[in-house]
Amino acid sequence: MIPAEVPNLIEGRAVPPKGGEWFEKRRPDSGELLCTAARSREADVSAAIAAAARARRGWAAHTPVGRGEIVRELALALRARREEAAEIVAAETGKSMELALGETDAAVEMGFFVAGEGRRLYGRTTTSAMPNRTVMATRRPIGVAGLIVSFNTPLPNYAWKAFPAVFCGNAAVLKPSEHTPASAAFFGELCNELLPPGVLNVVHGLGPEAGTPLVESGEVDLVSFTGSAETGRWIAESGGRRLAKVVLELGGKNALVVCDDADLDRAVEWSLASAFSNAGQRCAAASRIVVFDPVYDDFRERFAAGARSYETGPVISEASLQRILAALDGANVVVGGERLDRPGWWLAPTVVEDAPADAELSSTELFGPVAILYRVRDLEEAIALVNDSPYGLTSAIHTASLHRAMRFVDEVEAGVVVVNGGTHGSEPHMGFGGVKQSGTGWREAGIEALDVYTEWKYVNLIADPAKT
Ligand code: NAD
Repeated sequence: MIPAEVPNLIEGRAVPPKGGEWFEKRRPDSGELLCTAARSREADVSAAIAAAARARRGWAAHTPVGRGEIVRELALALRARREEAAEIVAAETGKSMELALGETDAAVEMGFFVAGEGRRLYGRTTTSAMPNRTVMATRRPIGVAGLIVSFNTPLPNYAWKAFPAVFCGNAAVLKPSEHTPASAAFFGELCNELLPPGVLNVVHGLGPEAGTPLVESGEVDLVSFTGSAETGRWIAESGGRRLAKVVLELGGKNALVVCDDADLDRAVEWSLASAFSNAGQRCAAASRIVVFDPVYDDFRERFAAGARSYETGPVISEASLQRILAALDGANVVVGGERLDRPGWWLAPTVVEDAPADAELSSTELFGPVAILYRVRDLEEAIALVNDSPYGLTSAIHTASLHRAMRFVDEVEAGVVVVNGGTHGSEPHMGFGGVKQSGTGWREAGIEALDVYTEWKYVNLIADPAKT
């Protein structure tokens, strides 16, 4: 199912890297070699960009309805092969089949949602100060889109960008994470069975080698990136120098607040799922659990017990595991904090407490199964602590009080707020993104994604020239 060598996919054809270099992709659950993938360099990326540039005008000439119908066919094709897709994802990320299937279905749903836009793609009409003039705003494709994504939920990550990008009439070059070449190859091939050649190209490789030329190319009109704030900052600088459209969806240090009037069983359950599902490798993961003093000890005991028995997957790489272990050095660990004694990159679900709010551990995203507990006196202190973060992606509060919930909703600095639930990601029809260093103001998914992948064009129509 997974080929030994994963080549690039350019203009609908499998293309080996020009330099003949391949990098190793290992299974996170065992450390065994899964496949090798094209270690692309600038020449490979340029070939993919050129293919997209050749394809873009012909593709943009299709009607939105026609492009929507093709995206619907893509979603149906993915649904028909959901088991196969999920098996690839499970092998290359180490997550369970249950999670991988759920993610595949989420990618399919994104396809259906985007496809429906073919029958909408609404513009606007407006007034003019001048008589005899009709003014309308229409959405137009941008051109060539460079799509760079993270490894954590690979299929939704591709679907969230590639489906709206091509639906809106752009041609794209997808640079998947070096940790997930096999799922990207599967997704790319599936799409290329239905899309004209060159509309969606896939180049594999390491970030600085294959991602950099995509960001720097003057032929790439839009760079849409999902990944760490560190990489995003560089992409914004580089794309900004050539005034490209740059859309960034970045990290989080998300907080879940447990008030003293919360349903504690539910709060513990949601906190465990928010902190540890997908081994904490979710941009929406709750890594800070902020608990009111009167229920702190009770919550701590139950949460620690839950963490001890929580079954989660490995983290994505040895480097990631070592980075997290180094960050935990000197921390007051309640549970976990150590590597599991088995092959692969397994970290025990970890609970930490007594970390000062201004400590590096409190503000750095670890992207692993680590949650820090904080004790607070009241809602005021909780909100101040939650907002004392460079990030602002998701947040949650558990309380029986509508008043407390609404105050939190009003005052929390985050792109997503959940009352009495987990620090969720999103659904296909909901715009998703964060504030502060979690993003640059764009929202992906939802109809908001149309703002990412189209430009507005204002059209002035004067029906009777004699009257101007
Ligand atoms: P990362 O920044 O290391 O890599 C992301 C992608 O960028 C990869 O494809 C990588 O190869 C590429 N890349 C790396 N250096 C590059 C460079 N110099 N130029 C161009 N491309 C480069 O992030 P990661 O470890 O893959 O993912 C984890 C991060 O992603 C976390 O911060 C997480 O919160 C974030 N994330 C955010 C969202 C969101 O929607 N906000 C969703 C998922 C993940």
